[in-house]
Amino acid sequence: MAIQREQLEADVLIVGAGPAGLACALHLANLIKQHNASGAKPELSAENIYVLEKGREIGAHQLSGAIMNPKALAELVPDFQKSAPLDTPVTDSAALVFTEKSSYRLPITPPPFNNSGNFVISLSKLVKWMGGLVESAGVNLFKEFGGAELIYEGEGIAGVITEDKGLDKNGKPKANFTPGYELRAKVTVLAEGTRGSLTKQLVAKKNLDNINPQSYGIGIKELWDIQPGKLQPGYVAHTLGWPISTKMYGGGWIYGLSNNRVSIGLVIALEYENSRFDPHAAFQTWKTHPHVRNILEGGKLVRYGAKSLPYGGWYAMPQNYFDGGLIVGDSGSFLDSQRLKGVHLAMKSGMLAAETTFEALKQNDYSANTLKLYKEKIDNSYIKDELWKVRNFHQSFRNGLLDGFFYSGLQELTGGAGIIDPMHAHAAHEAYKPIFGRPAPERFKGDGKLTFDRLTDVYHSGTRHDEDQPCHLKVQDLNICSTRCVEEFGNPCQYFCPAAVYEMVKEGNGQKLKINAANCVHCKTCDIADPYQIIDWVVPEGGGGPNYEGM
Ligand code: SF4
Repeated sequence: MAIQREQLEADVLIVGAGPAGLACALHLANLIKQHNASGAKPELSAENIYVLEKGREIGAHQLSGAIMNPKALAELVPDFQKSAPLDTPVTDSAALVFTEKSSYRLPITPPPFNNSGNFVISLSKLVKWMGGLVESAGVNLFKEFGGAELIYEGEGIAGVITEDKGLDKNGKPKANFTPGYELRAKVTVLAEGTRGSLTKQLVAKKNLDNINPQSYGIGIKELWDIQPGKLQPGYVAHTLGWPISTKMYGGGWIYGLSNNRVSIGLVIALEYENSRFDPHAAFQTWKTHPHVRNILEGGKLVRYGAKSLPYGGWYAMPQNYFDGGLIVGDSGSFLDSQRLKGVHLAMKSGMLAAETTFEALKQNDYSANTLKLYKEKIDNSYIKDELWKVRNFHQSFRNGLLDGFFYSGLQELTGGAGIIDPMHAHAAHEAYKPIFGRPAPERFKGDGKLTFDRLTDVYHSGTRHDEDQPCHLKVQDLNICSTRCVEEFGNPCQYFCPAAVYEMVKEGNGQKLKINAANCVHCKTCDIADPYQIIDWVVPEGGGGPNYEGM
């Protein structure tokens, strides 16, 4: 039965209220205000900008380490220091090398680890604050709405359909059923974050991929209250080494916040060979290092979260303009994989998308031919300056740390070219080696004080979904999970998911996949790292998901 949907029309629809989407909305509203004040025609309205946020609050789904370079924010809100909730300026940047029992600080902090001039922030708080500015500027911000489907028109897109609300787990309407809206727009800006579900479909359908597939990492984070005097606010350390093997790419972070709080985490590239590697367990193990243990002892876990991040850089950036739309932020690969900095690049990409959209509105032309101005603006901005220098950085590490240091060292001397330019990358899921009948490892349990199992951590993510709704993790062929995947890779989804969503349970003489979708923290790792690429993460009913308040 065809569903009757209410249709709404906007000039500009921004899907995702993260730093990129909100910077786009605010900058465009400011440009429109100046334009109207000058008396120029046509008159435009900020009320015709719509922003969708799938979380229950603005900022609820925002997670980052997070250290922010403030330069894009300074352009967007010149007096930001007066009111932005920046936690603390960085006062010390350390690079630490971990062995199992000890650590040493590199005498000179390599430039990529030097964060002077940056701020340690809570991305969730910053984004919530930005949301307030966007609403004050007259933009329509809709919470608890996700973009479920793109509206394709001609060669491009013309808006999105939001998710249906009030369906039961079998997809049948409940008493509170409300069909999703058909939101039509002249320009649709995809700001969905890493591995956006609409962006993924669009890039595949329109062949927008660059020369490399996107590479991804997973970051797992905890926020702790610690004993006074343990860590100075603004102290920032990045760790290399134990417990991450030299064949893998990853490292830890320790960021001192105000009020005796610390952000800790581990980030690991999703391109490892061992299909039963468990990033959450690796993070918990990292916490047992004497250096980290000493900081956390006597403290208390406050919050937990996980997210994926796009490592692929310049050569994995999809074509980001097309008829009726643009791609910004993490969805568009705007992240410096060497410095692991993305917030300022996401904001800047959103602002350039706003300037492009503003020109399109004035010309009343929303074709790719007009919107390609976005790409020109990127090429003439510091986004290109920063990303071009590190265009081969992440690919250098595809065979482990030693190769990586060699190639990236040469790239430093040659403006990013090194000895192979462009270096090619493979999709993450192609790295797994078969398990050859090896028994499954014992699962990490945690001691309940310093280290935790995944369910305890999920509890601290504030994740909540209505259980009686269609599963938002669509597995195209469950038979593969029970047969080929058991034999070949030992069901990696049970290991890479940081929220214990996937479980193989006994059924007769075999096993079947059980999906605990209510635990999902929306990190998208399963969509990325499943070996057969048969998992599609789609938006659940709006308002579901984590609550990363303060993260
Ligand atoms: Fe992340 Fe997928 Fe697990 Fe959800 S189900 S937490 S998106 S890996």
